Amino acid sequence: MNLAIDQTHDPALQSWVESANDPATDFPVQNLPFGRFRRGDDLDWCIGVAIGDQVLDLSRAKVTEIQDIKRLMSLNRQARHALRLVISQGLLHRSPDEARFRAALVPQAEVEMGLPCEIGDYTDFYTSIHHATTVGKQFRPDNPLLPNYKWLPIGYHGRSSSIGVSRAGLGQTFRRPWGQSKAPDATEPKLTPCGRLDFELELGAFIAQPNAMGEPVRLADAEEHVFGLALFNDWSARDIQAWEYQPLGPFLSKNFASTVSPWMVTLDALAPFREPFNRPENDPAPLPYLDSPENRKQGAINIELEVWLQTARMRADKRPGERLMQSNYRDTYWTVAQLVAHHTVSGCNLRSGDLFGSGTLSGPRPDQGGSLLELSLGGKRPITLSNGEQRTFLEDGDSVILRGYCQREGFRRIGFGECRGTVLPAHP
Ligand code: CA
Repeated sequence: MNLAIDQTHDPALQSWVESANDPATDFPVQNLPFGRFRRGDDLDWCIGVAIGDQVLDLSRAKVTEIQDIKRLMSLNRQARHALRLVISQGLLHRSPDEARFRAALVPQAEVEMGLPCEIGDYTDFYTSIHHATTVGKQFRPDNPLLPNYKWLPIGYHGRSSSIGVSRAGLGQTFRRPWGQSKAPDATEPKLTPCGRLDFELELGAFIAQPNAMGEPVRLADAEEHVFGLALFNDWSARDIQAWEYQPLGPFLSKNFASTVSPWMVTLDALAPFREPFNRPENDPAPLPYLDSPENRKQGAINIELEVWLQTARMRADKRPGERLMQSNYRDTYWTVAQLVAHHTVSGCNLRSGDLFGSGTLSGPRPDQGGSLLELSLGGKRPITLSNGEQRTFLEDGDSVILRGYCQREGFRRIGFGECRGTVLPAHP
């Protein structure tokens, strides 16, 4: 995996971009996440790197000739790392490249962010054992975890056309979905707007280099194939899901919208926040293709995650919203590398720009549920907000905001920005 901490992670580094030195910024010079942006009436997306409250236009800074972000993502890990070094050096105090880089800066407030890349295939996993157990209990109190859970990363192939980006303002906006649902005591289902709309706190992993069809990716090489992580909200229609999911899994309950944050934080940037990946003592060891000393030594990533809710009334009162929960990605049951190795062991080919959702990232405690399904106990226990409003599931006008950041003694804190989405009323 080769996760070297190098000079780009030095916490003493300062940038000539003043806002990047603000302790509160998500985007200090140690981060350097990639995304796509455009200005004013531009039609084409440019590749940018976030630095403080600015975007560095890579083409204008003459850092690379590559104009298409998927081509850049398909570079091998060494080439991507070399690019990181060049960008880092150009942004540092007293860089000889300052003038050239300065001419390539645009304030983030003046650009429109696009999806980090055009997303190809999208797969959603189910990697939090805490989420799987809590949700499983609602359906099977005595047997919450199905027997395959500890042996393979559960996932399903999802839909990419409705994945949108968190933009300035309300983020991605989408209509409350319609679908079939059936009340427990009803004899027939009916077509109705979703009555149990939920969020799912997830991370998205963007695929870097492709693999050839028929050529599984070995666990040891798996991270070569991951470009970076972003925040991801897998909006879910629980009433539609409960009726449709058996026996083949989610369909319309998931395909109406998903929101991703605009910046991909690279695995290079995350190197200082790697941690040992350990399973509980009595759990089975993964099969050999999903296990390696390296994965055990530093397969986990320490990423603090939060979900915030801003209701329409809070917005009218100019309140920023309130935090519903927090968890940490280190509590995952399967690592990103294991997801890549498992996804390809059949011979499936991944392509640059494919997206993996981690699955809902709930923590071990009941207040660490990564969805309202967990936090409200399936709608049985309403959550009371500080302004007196109550929620079991989402109401029209609600904005959900995901945040993520990494911090560790001796290193600069880096963040993911935010992933925001807002529920609009159902189609009339
Ligand atoms: Ca999900």
